[in-house]
Amino acid sequence: MDNKRRNLLKGSAALGGLGVFGAGYVDPVKKAAQGLLSGSAGEPTTDRITGNALPPEFRIDAETGELIPAEGQVVSLTQCLGCWTQCGIRARVDTVNNRVLRIAGNPYHPLSHEKPQVYDAPVREAYTGLGGDPGIEGRSAACARGAAMLELLDNPQRITRPMKRVGPRGSGQWQTISFEQLIEEVTEGGDLFGEGRVDGLRAIHDTETLMDPENPEYGPVANRLLVTDAGPDGRRAIVKRFTFNAFGTRNFGHHGSYCGLGYRVGSGALFDDMKGFTHAKLDWDRARFVIFMGTAPAHAGNPYKQQGRQLASARTDRRFEYVVVAPSLPNSSSLATRGNNNWVPIRPAGDSAMAMAMIRWIIDNERYDRDYLIQPGPAAQEAAGEPSWSNATHLVVSSENHALTGRILRGRDLGWTDSAGDSVVVDAVSGEWMAHTMPRPAELFVTREVVLADGSTVTVKSAMQRLADEARRLTLSEYSAECDVPEATIEALARKFTSYGKQAVINTHGGVMNGSAFYTSYAIVMLNAMVGNLNAPGGTFVKGKPYTNTGAGERYDMANFPGKIGPKGIFLSRSRTTYEASSEFRRKVESGRNPYPAKAPWYPVSPPLFTEHLCSALEGYPYQAKIWINHMGNPIYGQAGLREAIDQRLKDPGRIGLIIGIEPFINETNAYADYLVPDLVTYEGWGFSKAWAGVKQRMTSARWPVVEPRVEKTADGEPISMEAFLIAVSKRLGLPGFGDNAIPDADGNLHPLNTAADWYLRGAANVAWDGGPVPEAAEDDMRLTGVDRIAPVLQAHLKPEEWRRAAYVFCRGGRFGEAPAKDAGPVTHWQRPATIWNEKVGSNRHSLTGDYFTGCPTWHPPRFADGSRVERHYPVDQWPLRLTSYKSHLQSPHSIAASRLRQIHPYNPVGINTRDAEAAGIQTGDRVRLVTPGGSVEGVALLRDGVKRGAVAIEHGYGHRELGARTHTVDGTPLPGDEAIGAGVNLNDLGLVDPTHSSGNAWVDWVTGASVRQALPARIEKVG
Ligand code: SF4
Repeated sequence: MDNKRRNLLKGSAALGGLGVFGAGYVDPVKKAAQGLLSGSAGEPTTDRITGNALPPEFRIDAETGELIPAEGQVVSLTQCLGCWTQCGIRARVDTVNNRVLRIAGNPYHPLSHEKPQVYDAPVREAYTGLGGDPGIEGRSAACARGAAMLELLDNPQRITRPMKRVGPRGSGQWQTISFEQLIEEVTEGGDLFGEGRVDGLRAIHDTETLMDPENPEYGPVANRLLVTDAGPDGRRAIVKRFTFNAFGTRNFGHHGSYCGLGYRVGSGALFDDMKGFTHAKLDWDRARFVIFMGTAPAHAGNPYKQQGRQLASARTDRRFEYVVVAPSLPNSSSLATRGNNNWVPIRPAGDSAMAMAMIRWIIDNERYDRDYLIQPGPAAQEAAGEPSWSNATHLVVSSENHALTGRILRGRDLGWTDSAGDSVVVDAVSGEWMAHTMPRPAELFVTREVVLADGSTVTVKSAMQRLADEARRLTLSEYSAECDVPEATIEALARKFTSYGKQAVINTHGGVMNGSAFYTSYAIVMLNAMVGNLNAPGGTFVKGKPYTNTGAGERYDMANFPGKIGPKGIFLSRSRTTYEASSEFRRKVESGRNPYPAKAPWYPVSPPLFTEHLCSALEGYPYQAKIWINHMGNPIYGQAGLREAIDQRLKDPGRIGLIIGIEPFINETNAYADYLVPDLVTYEGWGFSKAWAGVKQRMTSARWPVVEPRVEKTADGEPISMEAFLIAVSKRLGLPGFGDNAIPDADGNLHPLNTAADWYLRGAANVAWDGGPVPEAAEDDMRLTGVDRIAPVLQAHLKPEEWRRAAYVFCRGGRFGEAPAKDAGPVTHWQRPATIWNEKVGSNRHSLTGDYFTGCPTWHPPRFADGSRVERHYPVDQWPLRLTSYKSHLQSPHSIAASRLRQIHPYNPVGINTRDAEAAGIQTGDRVRLVTPGGSVEGVALLRDGVKRGAVAIEHGYGHRELGARTHTVDGTPLPGDEAIGAGVNLNDLGLVDPTHSSGNAWVDWVTGASVRQALPARIEKVG
C-alpha cells in the first residue's frame, strides 16, 4: 500500500475534495449498507425498513390525534453541553435502565427553534406538535454534536471516584481514594505525596494578613488560591460564591481569554461596557446585507445551532445577501442554494487592515450615517428618531502627557457647575460649547484648542475626528497590501455595506484572536456604528434579560448571606488594574528610574485572565499561587503555546504546591493535577444558563438530573461532583455561606446549603417567580417529562407554594419569554452610546512601552508584548506561512470522546492552498510536518482551493493528548487510551511563547491578554 493511501486510511475521511471524501467513507458506507441488511452485530435486523431503530417514544393516534407515550420512556427537557451554545434539548430517557437513548431539540427553547412553542402550552401539546405533518414545522433538533453527547454518560474513560496521583505530577499514575480522604487531605495538607509538606487550603485561608507588606495591593494570603472554571455551564454562581465570598480569594478565571476574549473586549469598547463586554447579533429577520469577518454563521460564533437555521431561512426565504471574509472558505458560504453570497479570502490577521480600510473609505466618501452620528445623547437621539446614540461628537483631550489625555472633555473640566458630569460637544448650529444631553445635533468633526478651568491649554478633537485620523494613517493600497485583499474589493464591499441604511450589519467573533485582537475586533464592530444600526430593525441587537436564578431573586437571595466577604487585592493576571497604581511603579519613580517597562504586561481593561493567571502563579509575578482548583478548564489544550510555555514549571510541585482538578474526564490540563474529583455530565446535574447573545426575548435554560448520576456517592449519599466538593471543603473550613444557615429567603429566614439540590432548587424557585409566578406544573407535564421522578426532592426542599412552579420550569427545560413577531426588530434596546472613542482604553498606558493605548480603532499588525512585529523575530523567508484556526461543525474541544462523531469525521487534515502545496511538492494525502517557532505537529495534507494562498487552515477540536487518548494507570491497572481520540492535529500545540514576555508566557494579545491562535508564522514540509 502506498504511503498516501495508508495515511488516508489511517486518518480516514478529510472534509473537502470529493476523492478524499469518498476514499475515507468507503468503510462507513460499507458498514452502513451491511447494517441495513444484517444489523451491526451480524444478526438479522428486527425490521427490514427501520432496521434496529429504537421503538418510537410516542405514537400519535391517526384517528384521535392522541399522543401515546411508549412504556418505560419519558422525554425530558434539559440543556446540552456539547458546546458553549448550551441549547435546550429533549432527552429520551429509558426509565427502566436509567439510560439516555436519544437527544433532539427542546421545542420551547429559542436556541432550538426559530418559532418556539408558546411557553404555557401543555407539554402534551408541544410533543404532539413534533409529530405528523405539523412536525415538519414544529421539529426541534439538536446538532450532530449535541445528539452524540449522550455517549459521554457511560463512557469508559470517565472517572467516577476521587483519585490521587501516586507518581510524579503529570505521569498519569493514580490511586482511587474515598471522598472523605480527598477532603481531609486537600484542606489539611501534609506530606501528601512523599515529597515533603504540602500546604492545604486551611493553611492559606487567611483573609486578613497581607501576603506581601511591601506590595499591599497584592492583598491577603487567601489570594494564593487560584480557582478556575471552564465556562458558564450554569453552575458558575456556586463556584464564585466559594471563591470570592466564602474563601475570599481574588483569583478566579475562566476560558474566555483562550476563547473569544479579544472579540468581547473590542465589542465592549464599542458598547461602553468594559465589565460585561456586551456583544450584539444581527437581526436575521430584517437584515438585508451582512458581512461576516472573523466568524462564519452556522460554522462558528455563538449561538452556533440557531444561526444555522437562521442562515438557512434567510438565504432561501427572502432577499438577503452576505459575504464571508475569512482565510479559509467555510461551509456557510455556498452557492448551492442561491448566488446571494460570496467568500472574500483574506490573509490571516488581515481583518484589522481590511476593517480600517473600509472605515477610511466610508469617512473619506462621506458614506457614514451622518444623521445618526451627530446626535450627542439620548435627548437628541429621541428628537431625531434614531434608534441609539453615539459619542462621535464628544471631545477627546488629545494633547500628550496631560492629566486628562485620552479622556472625554467634561463640563467640570471647563468649570461648569451645571452639567459638570456631562460630555462637552460643539453645538452644530451655534458652534458654541454644549452639554451632550441637549436635544440637538453637534459638530461631527472638531479640532480646537481649549483653556481648561485649571488654566492649562489642551487640544481637543471629536471622537469622529480621532477615528478619521487613525483610519488615515495608512492609504487604501497600504491596507490592501497588509490584508492581501484587492483595493477594488475593499471599496466595493464598503460601498455595498453603506447601501442598505441600517439594514446592513458586520458580525465577528473568535476569528479575531490574533496578535492584535482588540483593535481588530474594535475596528470590525465600529463599522456597525458607521451605519448606525444599533437597536435598529435589520441592524444589531442585544439579548433579552435572563431570569434571575442563583442570584438575588424574589424568593431567595442567593447572592448575599451572613458572613459574606469580598475579595481584596489585585488579580494574579494583573488585569482590571493599572501598573501605574502599583508599588512597583511607585518605587521605580521614587528612585528616579524610568518605570517602563513593567516586569510583565498589565491589562487595565481586561477581566481576570486564565491566559495570564497560570504563568503569573508559577513565576510569582505579581505573586505566587500555592493551590489551584480547576473545574473543567483546559487551557493546556485551548491556549496556543501554553503547553510549551509552562509544561516543566507546572510539573514542579515546588511552584504551585497543590493542584485539584474537577471533571468527568481527565483533560489535558487536569492531567497535571494532584487530585482528581469526578464530576457530572450534563444529563446528571442541575444548572441554569442564559443565551450568550442572539435571543431577543428573556430566557433561562434549566437543567436537571434526567438520569441517576454514574459517579460514586459521598457518605451522606450525595453524588460526588464539583458542588459536593466545594460544599464539603467549605463546611470543613467553617466558611460562611455554606452549611445549615446559608441562604436567606424573602422573609429573612435562613435555609441550608448542604447539597446541590439545596442550591439549585431555590434557584428554580427564583426563576419561577421572576417577572410573575409561572403556573403550577400539571401531573401530565411531570409524567411526560419525567419530572415526577424528582418531585419528592422538589417537595423536600421547597415551600408548598413553590415546588410545583419550580417543576413547571423543569418540565419545559427553563423559562422563556414570549417570542417577538418576526418583523418586530430589536426588543431590548441598548441605552449606552456606541462608543467611537473609549476613554477607559484611551486614557491608559501600555505597561511595557509606556505609550497610551488608542481609544478608537486603529491598525496594528500582530505584535508581541513589547510592541515588536512578529516578522522581526521570525522573518517571512524562514516562516512563509500563516496558520488559521477554524471551528468544527462536529467537534468542540471536549466532545472527542463521542465515538459516533469520530466515525463521521475521524481527524482534521492540514488544509493548504493547492498552488502553495504543489509548489512544495505536497499532494492530498501526503503526511506533512507543520513547524512554527513554538513546535511542530504531523498531519495529513488536504489541498484546497478554499484556503487563501500563504495560509494553512486547521479545524479546532482534534489532536487531543488526553480525554481518553492516553493510557493512565489507576490502582496499578492500565486505563487504556484510545488512539482514535488523539487523531488529528491541535493548532494550539503550535502556539508561540512570546520572546518579549519576561515571565515566558505564551503569546497573548498585548491589549487584552487574549490567546493568539491566528496568523502563527509557520512552514510546512513533506514527511518521508
Ligand atoms: S450547538 Fe449543538 S452541541 Fe452546541 S449546545 Fe447546541 S445542540 Fe449542543
